[in-house]
Amino acid sequence: MAAVMRYLFSTPKISTKTLISSSLVPDSHNNTHEAAIPTKVQLRNISSSSNSNNKCVLHSNVKSLLDNTVGLSTPLESLQRGNWVKLICGASFEDVVDIRNLSLVYTLAGVDCIDCAADASVVRAVNEGIEAARDIAGLRRPWVMISVNDDEDLHFRKAEFDPEDCPADCSRPCENVCPANAISFQGKATVGILYTSEAPRVPKDGVVTERCYGCGRCLPVCPYDKIREVTYVRDAIATADLIRRNDVDAMEIHTSGRQSTLFKELWCALGDSVRNLRLIAVSLPNGGDSTISCMNEIYSVMKPNLQSFNLWQLDGRPMSGDIGRGATKESIAFAVQLAKAKERPPGFLQLAGGTNAHTIDGLKKEGLFQTSVANGETSILSSSTSSHALIGGIAYGGYARKIVGRVLRSMQSQHGGAAPIEDHPAHLLMALREALALVGPVKVFNP
Ligand code: SF4
Ligand code: SF4
Repeated sequence: MAAVMRYLFSTPKISTKTLISSSLVPDSHNNTHEAAIPTKVQLRNISSSSNSNNKCVLHSNVKSLLDNTVGLSTPLESLQRGNWVKLICGASFEDVVDIRNLSLVYTLAGVDCIDCAADASVVRAVNEGIEAARDIAGLRRPWVMISVNDDEDLHFRKAEFDPEDCPADCSRPCENVCPANAISFQGKATVGILYTSEAPRVPKDGVVTERCYGCGRCLPVCPYDKIREVTYVRDAIATADLIRRNDVDAMEIHTSGRQSTLFKELWCALGDSVRNLRLIAVSLPNGGDSTISCMNEIYSVMKPNLQSFNLWQLDGRPMSGDIGRGATKESIAFAVQLAKAKERPPGFLQLAGGTNAHTIDGLKKEGLFQTSVANGETSILSSSTSSHALIGGIAYGGYARKIVGRVLRSMQSQHGGAAPIEDHPAHLLMALREALALVGPVKVFNP
């Protein structure tokens, strides 16, 4: 706990101007930094400044928060130490305004990687957010990762329905259950929905495709069975073009793990483009006893053309981190299973699927947080250290988006439009506080 405090607010003398009002956004964490909770008066002091003043105050306030954190390691060092954090924007989430703002906030909070849809406009939004964050605080650049699939996969689907077919007296449980505010109806419009960064934020009826990330929670709640799921597979040629760009550093391939034929087809179609990457991740569900043999099979497919580091994303309970404490159990159990396995192939291990603010505690209870193993045991490619962490780190998706998303919705309801979050310093500081409370406990490094 003391180390967490050091990461977040090691110097107790934080200017009152750096403080933000948590009263506007419910605190979802354990308030390890409760002493820094500001007042509404302080929030007004920020908001009432002139624009240029706001910018100066913002830069100074953000730097004050970050000056009190430990120095950031490079993404590779983080993997080796076991304090790697990845933000998952969502393989199908394509709201470029939210993605830009999320990328900005989590870059400031110190994530090592930002994982997003394999789409040029989404990649552009991520990079814009990163550069805006670096403009504010001059931090190192996190890696940008695109996510693709080799076959049907829950992460690569969209819900759809025709709102004209919905009975007028339906209580719209679909709208209430959607964690992404991706379902809206005219006259009861969801705040802040938009289609592109240039277009006005005009909600439409039904599923806002760009915001739907395929969690599937709306499907079973419709009493009239009106909602369909549409699955898709990312095109390999378009993916190869994307990863040849110099603003994409990593790629993640989602696979079912049931057989390697489709993985092999995708890998062959990507050709030499994969040599441009620094990291290649494979995301797979827990296949029980067959998991290790599946990983070895996939590794043997990749090996001849693998010139980067590789990582195994242990997808415990897909897209569920925002649900609550219990959601992370399956990702922890997956990590425990892999930690015991003797014949696992080379590559870093990273948790995902159900990860949230409780994941670190679960890893600690199992003795897996920053537990070092001899380098030779997993043969990390070109590792410069003599040892590395057994579990490289954690990826946060739905939970990370939820805690910062609340601030984004609040900003949009107050100010409307598609404003960059840095134009609203009080909201940026609120969002950063939320992000730091999630990222900080992982970033603590216990050598
Ligand atoms: S699948 Fe999930 S994100 Fe998409 S509309 Fe349904 S509930 Fe919302
Ligand atoms: S629950 Fe079904 S019928 Fe009701 S509004 Fe949603 S999609 Fe339409």
